Amino acid sequence: MRNRFLAFLFVILFVVFPLTGCGLDGSQDTPRETTRDDTTKEQGSSNPLPTNSSFAVHFIDVGQADAALVICDDKTMLIDGGNVGDSDLIYSYLKKLNISYLDYVICTHPHEDHVGGLSGALSYATVGVAYSPVLTYTTKAFENFLDKVISQGKNLTVPTPGESFFLGSAKVTILGPLHTDYDETNDLSIVLRIEYDEVSFLFTGDMERKAESDLLEAGYDLRSTVIKVGHHGSETSSSYAFLREVSPTYGVISVGVDNDYGHPDEDVLSRYRDAEVKLYRTDLQGDIICTCEDGKTLRFTTAKNSDAITNPTEGNSSGSGNNGVTEYAYVGNLSSKKYHRTTCGSLPAEDNRIYFTTKEEAENAGYLPCGNCDP
Ligand SMILES: [Zn+2]
Ligand SMILES: [Zn+2]
Repeated sequence: MRNRFLAFLFVILFVVFPLTGCGLDGSQDTPRETTRDDTTKEQGSSNPLPTNSSFAVHFIDVGQADAALVICDDKTMLIDGGNVGDSDLIYSYLKKLNISYLDYVICTHPHEDHVGGLSGALSYATVGVAYSPVLTYTTKAFENFLDKVISQGKNLTVPTPGESFFLGSAKVTILGPLHTDYDETNDLSIVLRIEYDEVSFLFTGDMERKAESDLLEAGYDLRSTVIKVGHHGSETSSSYAFLREVSPTYGVISVGVDNDYGHPDEDVLSRYRDAEVKLYRTDLQGDIICTCEDGKTLRFTTAKNSDAITNPTEGNSSGSGNNGVTEYAYVGNLSSKKYHRTTCGSLPAEDNRIYFTTKEEAENAGYLPCGNCDP
């Protein structure tokens, strides 16, 4: 009962104290209504969300690589698929969520750690539109992806900056690449921004400083509540100027444990600290799922270590402060009294859920572990 009360309390906190106003400019001190109104105007959000609308981004833990699954209402978009070795993992991830059709598949750029696992995705699911910044690239990983697309009777589409489309109630705008002749393949990364009412997400692939500065010059609205940190937290990306413009509240770094590149780079982490961005990291926390139901408040759940120190300063662990976001590790089914990992394939419907932060909490409330996900 105590847990239900706590869950109820969190809901009240979310409704009364929405998080969207917490930017880089110390706006926590400004009246929240003003900030919300500004956000609404700036981001051009218009129509109220339909009832039962929901939005989720699954940052799938693919080690030193990228893969993000965006689900809005009944539409889906997969942005990158990890390495070739992640094909089975991506296949299983889609299967467990019963996603056999992907409205959009984005290969941000043809490096293996982004395109590699997409062929696994397309072994399970069929695709509506497949975007890539290039039509050819002479690696096995890219050619396997292309073959899968063609075998489904489709072809790759190179998106045009400025074009946009709807993914359910969410609006997706392609921002880059602005040029096709970058020397660095990473700068060719497809950059896109997703708006779901008052919250927004920026995906930048492995874009480096050159493409970042071109985007800044182009004058696009880059401000986003959440940024998928560019190039796995490499020093090549997340310049101060870019970060200032995006002004995110949250950042997610998709990065491998003890990777050979030393990602995320200490200088980059320090820039995110300076900007007071709350970071989540797949190397420390596994799969990271960000959900939004009211178009205003975000909830992050992590497969493990929800309270990990994701951006420590030397001798000071305060970099982990969780900015008031509740992180739940387990989801209980109010009817069956079973509890699940947040990544379980058989999670109960939204209105039949109770959230727990620890297994003890779930068991004390009389819940039993799910036999499938074995929490
Ligand atoms: Zn990469
Ligand atoms: Zn790359």
